Amino acid sequence: MRDRLLRTIARERIDRLFKFARAYAQSDPEAAREAVAIARRMAQRARIRIPKQYRLMFCRKCGNLFLGPNSFSVRIRDRRSTHVVVRCLKCGRVRRYPVLKEKTHKVGRSKL
Ligand SMILES: [Zn+2]
Repeated sequence: MRDRLLRTIARERIDRLFKFARAYAQSDPEAAREAVAIARRMAQRARIRIPKQYRLMFCRKCGNLFLGPNSFSVRIRDRRSTHVVVRCLKCGRVRRYPVLKEKTHKVGRSKL
């Protein structure tokens, strides 16, 4: 019960910290970076996952924010299976995301 309350609070704070980081990435990059570091620590302590939209926003290795020009590069590679390559331009860390083919949905009569 207490854990659940703690996690709810942590989630709210993480959300706010990432919103702050996004808003101040250009004007105060140092504060934005610090906000992400705090949010990551908080998630670790509360043992919750950082929401996906935020997880893609920073470098896992050096904490560099993927906001604005010259912070990261995105390339699509078609070798083997199609994937997106996101590279941190600060430390060179590479992350690859598979491009999933859209599944053909079978629409049952009941759903029409
Ligand atoms: Zn990096």
